[in-house]
Amino acid sequence: MINLTKIDEPDILKANAESWKRDLFDELGKGTPISKITLKYNHKDIKTKLLKETHGKCAYCESKITHVSYLHIEHILPKKKFPDLTYSWENLTLACPKCNLNKEEYYEDELPLINPYQDQICKEVTFWGPSLQYITAKGKLTIYKLDLNRPELIERRAEKIDAMSKLFLNFNEASIPVIKEMYWKELREMTKKEVEYSSLAYSLFKSRERIYTSTL
Ligand SMILES: [Zn+2]
Repeated sequence: MINLTKIDEPDILKANAESWKRDLFDELGKGTPISKITLKYNHKDIKTKLLKETHGKCAYCESKITHVSYLHIEHILPKKKFPDLTYSWENLTLACPKCNLNKEEYYEDELPLINPYQDQICKEVTFWGPSLQYITAKGKLTIYKLDLNRPELIERRAEKIDAMSKLFLNFNEASIPVIKEMYWKELREMTKKEVEYSSLAYSLFKSRERIYTSTL
């Protein structure tokens, strides 16, 4: 999980959020459950902005959203409990189908999940090898509720660690400065926000940076 920052609200939402919200509340007023109401936030302009904002990754597990049909617009505070925020730009992000499903309608005032836009992620959770470990109760709940150590994530993260370990080794063994720099650059690239599981890469990179930069 990485910290995310809101970009500008898409025009389509700016122009329509209020009227869409009125329509929603009209239906709710008639007793229609929210699950049966056709909601309008799945507009391509909204999706495009959210893809940019989240670097094309699930806001929780950082898996790349590889196909637009896998793109689930996620309400940080669930729309069923906070219908008022259904069309609030601040409340929208992207999640992969698994995180979206695991999160369900969870919200507890006393113990909310990590909000990648508000919480400082590194103070809530940390990596131990390929496994995400909690630091706080909020971190513990988020890992448990979203199942952030599910086998496929562990496997993908382990592949990342393996790839980085090989690069660190190559870096260590290279004697020609330009080759050394090439490996270092490649390692740095893996920590960029748009790269899948970059938080893991960043934590690995940071843990070794001090040891290795002296040899650059
Ligand atoms: Zn996910």
